[in-house]
Amino acid sequence: MSDIWNPRTKAVHSGTRRSQYGEVSEAIFLTQGFVYDTAEDAAARFENSGPDEFIYARYGNPTVKMFEDRIAALEGAEDGFATASGMAAVSGALTSMLRAGDHVVSSKALFGSCLYVLEEILSRYGVEVTFVDGTDLDQWRAAVRADTKVVFFESMSNPTLEVIDIKSVCEIAHVHGAKVVIDNVFATPVYSNAFEQGADVIVYSTTKHIDGQGRALGGIILGSTDYIRKTVEPYMKHTGGSMSPFTAWTHLKGLETLDLRVRAQTATAHALAQSLQGHAGLKRVIYPGLSDHPQHALVQAQMGKGGTMLAIDVKGGRAAAFQFLNAIKIGIISNNLGDAKTIMTHPATTTHQRLSQDQKDYLGITDGLVRISVGIEDTDDVIADILQALDAVG
Ligand SMILES: *Cc1c(COP(=O)(O)O)cnc(C)c1O
Repeated sequence: MSDIWNPRTKAVHSGTRRSQYGEVSEAIFLTQGFVYDTAEDAAARFENSGPDEFIYARYGNPTVKMFEDRIAALEGAEDGFATASGMAAVSGALTSMLRAGDHVVSSKALFGSCLYVLEEILSRYGVEVTFVDGTDLDQWRAAVRADTKVVFFESMSNPTLEVIDIKSVCEIAHVHGAKVVIDNVFATPVYSNAFEQGADVIVYSTTKHIDGQGRALGGIILGSTDYIRKTVEPYMKHTGGSMSPFTAWTHLKGLETLDLRVRAQTATAHALAQSLQGHAGLKRVIYPGLSDHPQHALVQAQMGKGGTMLAIDVKGGRAAAFQFLNAIKIGIISNNLGDAKTIMTHPATTTHQRLSQDQKDYLGITDGLVRISVGIEDTDDVIADILQALDAVG
């Protein structure tokens, strides 16, 4: 029955496991382990545990399982494995599949920790990684080879919001039998059709829009049952990056309101981008939902909407960007995103501080660039706050 539900219904009801008490809100099974009635039961469960039988919270837990089943239903995945953070999901999805001698192709525009995993860690174990400009399909075609095992990219890049053509890159990868792993954080499950477009594996940092209220770190790896149970689960359960039951509970609550929040945030982000377009104090407004975004047509086809994030380049460089940030009254200066609160980040001096000038130039991270994660506050208030802060720039 749940297969025919629409996403908002799935986000509220899929995966629910009620205990004998019939609780309304999902129970938090804050337990590390499980009791067996007899020694025979323990032996039988270790030999072959059924879908509703648990052994040890590192392997699985009823609250975590509810979260995995709910988000898998929402995303149209056969199965999922929840992890302790988004990075545990990214590194687990990749490392569980790769071995020395394998070849990976990845886009260059990556979240700092993703870049570290690909550039520093995988190479240490003998995996060769080729980086490409993810928006240039010819570079993907030239880089993917017969021995390419995995293709990796963020569907929308941080912080300059470039969008990668999922369908075309998947076609290129699949000609050579490579698996496509997509970090889909900025698209969110609300605007994701990544499996329909050909993705093999989707990972989320659930810390972002899915928690949505800045409470807990988490992640999820979504894919076929075969991949999740035979490749990911053995790797994750033995290396230890499993999600805590408490986190799973906060994320279950987050999923219930995800669609409402993300659509409201997107509507405000779009209105904000429109009211900032052509502002005398700005060099540039980057929002994938605006018709002047270089990949607007792709954004429309792939996501339908521009999402919850925008970036502005304040005239006057770092000093002006800092003046702007310090004048903001509703938004907060922090580095999370997808939150109920509007969050402002200066990538050049925080999230992307460690990058070389060349890398910053390549990614378009100028000294005036401010990333804005739009929250669920009143649209007019958010816009007025940002306009008054721009007026305060000397
Ligand atoms: C935040 C983020 C991550 C890492 O997630 P954590 O939950 O912080 O470990 C990975 N990829 C992208 C695109 C992110 O925004």
